[in-house]
Amino acid sequence: MEYKLGVVGCPIEHSLSPEIHNNFAQQLNIKISYEKYLVNNGELSSFCNQFFDNPNALGLNVTLPLKKEALELDAKKSNIVNKIHSANTIKKSNKSLYLHSTDGQGLVNDLNEKGISIKDKKILILGAGGSAASIIPAICGFNPSYIEIANRSEENAKKLIGQFGESVSLHEYKLSPDVIINCSSAGHDSSVPEFFYNLKISKDCILYDLSYGSPHKATRNWFKKYSQYIYSGEGMLVEQAALSFEYWFGKKPTTKNIIKEIL
Ligand code: NDP
Repeated sequence: MEYKLGVVGCPIEHSLSPEIHNNFAQQLNIKISYEKYLVNNGELSSFCNQFFDNPNALGLNVTLPLKKEALELDAKKSNIVNKIHSANTIKKSNKSLYLHSTDGQGLVNDLNEKGISIKDKKILILGAGGSAASIIPAICGFNPSYIEIANRSEENAKKLIGQFGESVSLHEYKLSPDVIINCSSAGHDSSVPEFFYNLKISKDCILYDLSYGSPHKATRNWFKKYSQYIYSGEGMLVEQAALSFEYWFGKKPTTKNIIKEIL
């Protein structure tokens, strides 16, 4: 049987998910048809009704701006989805839909792959949107010294802190963290956000930027003035995809060399 899969979001044409999942399917000798679908805010439920009506439809990846809207689907939610209020994977099994998020574990797997340790480290997250929320529980599991948040809108940062209680606090721009994780979508307009200029960054500080691709180079080039340890989000993209694939098929593909083969 050829399983029907896809990724939904808006915009969607830039997505690398079809290439990544086709690579996984080839590795594991599973037949899939994986397509990109342009789905706007407010359209996810009707799209899913139509998509999962096909008996071969097994799952969808969900990207911006639909990760929160996915929670409105008539679907069973994993523990992590209930905690972070966001989902990036939908699976159909026995006529029911299931929601899961692989973003946080995808980041942790890529940090491990790159030998970046979180334990006892001072972590600063830039941004307070869906991806920041997704990674906080995963990072907390590695006992960092602390996790602080800095964001363009302090109000949104405080809302996120309220969601996670004592495990996170507001950054005060006084000390350099050990690891900065950029979860802001700044850079889409090729400029460096103003609040970055207030950061204290030591030369040993590691920057992990969830974003990837050329529009985000401005941000990473700015960080290069301070530190040489800069990583972009392609690794996380592949790792979270591998976890979605495993969620659908119960088999985990290898993630080695995929970035080189695809990008
Ligand atoms: P959200 O829309 O949920 O949040 C966006 C965040 O970016 C908010 O904190 C917002 O601040 C901030 N922001 C947006 N524009 C600017 C700007 N011009 N200057 C400063 N801050 C800005 O997005 P996500 O959290 O879901 O995604 C963030 C980024 O992470 C995206 O680029 C996405 O592609 C990437 N990502 C990568 C993944 C991977 O696998 N590598 C997985 C998930 C996301 P404010 O609150 O002030 O509006």
